[in-house]
Amino acid sequence: MLKPNPNVAAMEPYALPDTSAAPGLEAIVLAQNEHAYPPSQAVRDAVMAAIGRAQLYSDSEWSELRAAIAEVYGLEADNIVCGAGSMELMNGLVQAYLAPPQRLLMTQYGYLYMRTQAKLAGVEVDSAPEPERRVDVDLLLESLRPETRLVFVVNPGNPCGSVIHNDEIRRLRAALPDDVLLLVDEAYAEFVDADFHAPLFDLIDAGNTVITRTFSKIYGLAGLRVGWGYFPADIRDQLRKVMNPGSVSTLSQVAATAALRDREGTAAARRAIAEQRDFLSRRLADLGLEAVPSQTNFILVDFGGASRADDAFEYLRTRRLVMRPMKGYGLPGCLRITIGTPEQMQLTADALAAWVESRGSA
Ligand code: PMP
Repeated sequence: MLKPNPNVAAMEPYALPDTSAAPGLEAIVLAQNEHAYPPSQAVRDAVMAAIGRAQLYSDSEWSELRAAIAEVYGLEADNIVCGAGSMELMNGLVQAYLAPPQRLLMTQYGYLYMRTQAKLAGVEVDSAPEPERRVDVDLLLESLRPETRLVFVVNPGNPCGSVIHNDEIRRLRAALPDDVLLLVDEAYAEFVDADFHAPLFDLIDAGNTVITRTFSKIYGLAGLRVGWGYFPADIRDQLRKVMNPGSVSTLSQVAATAALRDREGTAAARRAIAEQRDFLSRRLADLGLEAVPSQTNFILVDFGGASRADDAFEYLRTRRLVMRPMKGYGLPGCLRITIGTPEQMQLTADALAAWVESRGSA
């Protein structure tokens, strides 16, 4: 009988959440940390213009996009690699840098996709606890083993939304052995207050740290699949060997470039999300619902037990609102809510108030 790769056979199917509302209702999906608003006219115009070049393969050097990223973030274009979402870069790094008996070290609530990629490579994963629902550098260092080859940190974290100061990441890097690769996933970095989060990009200079970012969050292009990362030259070269050179389509590249050049639009999006996050946080506090303070476009709400979280999830679905259950992350008492438009947040706050009133607080 034909047999798959045993590492693949042992894996569960990749589980995406059911995002349907109760039967007959059109869902308002606040389960995927997507952007609240559709792309700007400038992005649409760029995509429409580029469709005329769709008979040609896309630019496998991402030249214009890399130049735009380099300019906006003050980086060297040569050290930037783009991928079909930052997921493709993570997958490539695991392929290029991990093989048994080496191990991956991540944190308790770190992004699960990395875990699946390690399993695919047959690599064991260690998890450092996040006691306060935030990354703890000392506990990461305690969890290090001689076989640890890659350390994966998400900052700000998903699903918790918490941030650690970049000085802590620098402390982590300084304490790790030189032959351990540190991958810092900054998918949500653009939502964070800049003063609190001075960029880390210079860390790549030492040659063993990489930083990934994405166009799926603040830039609102999740459906076009564009991520990027900042890499030391040697890691860039190894990574490119395993990546599909045409994975970022022409339309995706021009859309990302246009989104990036709209600095005012991005700043306005950041302000709008922060305002709605503050609004929802205040309403949650008024209702006596515990939430992890967030610097991102989502909030993790603790309903005080799995049955209450399940009940709230189903109740919200009857009001069209679909949140993200957190059992997969070992947080069965929590739901994660993506920050949306003012109307969506008003509906969410009102629905939660009605739920609390009908069920009572924990
Ligand atoms: N990292 C984190 C922490 C995420 O939450 C996500 C997507 N939800 C990603 C990476 C992947 O983003 P993308 O592949 O869309 O760039």
